[in-house]
Amino acid sequence: MGKADLHTHTRASDGALSAKELLEKVKQKGLDTVSITDHDTIAGFLEGIDLAEDLGIELIPGIEISTVWGKKEIHILAYGFDYKNEKLLELLRNQKNARVKRMKRIISELKSQGIDITYDEVWAEAGRGNIGRPHAAYVLVNKGYVSSFAEAFIRYLSSQKLENIRTEFADINTVINTVKNAGGVLSIAHPGPIFSRDEIDQLLLLGIDGIECIHPSHNFNVQKTFTDLAKSRNLLVTGGSDFHGNGKSDYDPYFGIVTLGQQHVESIKRMSGRRSKMLNTN
Ligand code: AMP
Ligand code: ZN
Ligand code: FE
Ligand code: FE
Repeated sequence: MGKADLHTHTRASDGALSAKELLEKVKQKGLDTVSITDHDTIAGFLEGIDLAEDLGIELIPGIEISTVWGKKEIHILAYGFDYKNEKLLELLRNQKNARVKRMKRIISELKSQGIDITYDEVWAEAGRGNIGRPHAAYVLVNKGYVSSFAEAFIRYLSSQKLENIRTEFADINTVINTVKNAGGVLSIAHPGPIFSRDEIDQLLLLGIDGIECIHPSHNFNVQKTFTDLAKSRNLLVTGGSDFHGNGKSDYDPYFGIVTLGQQHVESIKRMSGRRSKMLNTN
């Protein structure tokens, strides 16, 4: 049975590798299927399409979407959508702008705490990628405000530290409707450390199709609890390593090790295939 990794990042967001470098590593690790799930962008996926074909790797369209749910900012994974769908592309353009505004607010907040980093410095770290907190973390390290990437999050950038920062990410119902109308399916990203069981139930009721059961932040028991829940409710099981390739993410060593069975990839493709077919016949 083949192996898949349906959660990876490239330089199109906060990963360190280009799509080409990532796909070459995917090949080296002997994985059959991968999804490039950059934060709120498909630029890395688009860059990888031809090369994946040349390498004989199955590349599933993917995105990790930041969304607002109540007071929380959470991540939802989308797979198997029509990547030319105009409404979806528009949502991603808005998300990119929301990221820029959010970063400017984060920088002002840091300034009020006596931390002096500029938008240009963070933007330079992001390169051409979608800007995010890890880029600010690098600047904090480089300017000596913290001694490590992890410390930057603990002291300044964690969700708790930033809970009063307003963001303009799409709300969860908009994300769900937009992805489904593009023939895609949705999965709750790395729920283990983030949600109570009650919150998982609420999210599923909104119409999310699956759960990222397999993720480096899930120990065996957590993985089993989520897999059992998914099975009992006929939900999709998704999973991957959340590889960023910067050596700074705790999850990077799990690349090629934390993988998803091919049968789950087939279920994802079946569901998105049915959805696209229904949309086309309407
Ligand atoms: P953003 O897209 O700006 O919300 O940033 C999310 C990314 O920041 C995640 O994908 C991780 O790469 C990184 N991240 C989030 N929380 C932490 C943390 N506590 N420690 C290290 N990295 C983190
Ligand atoms: Zn990330
Ligand atoms: Fe995430
Ligand atoms: Fe991720």
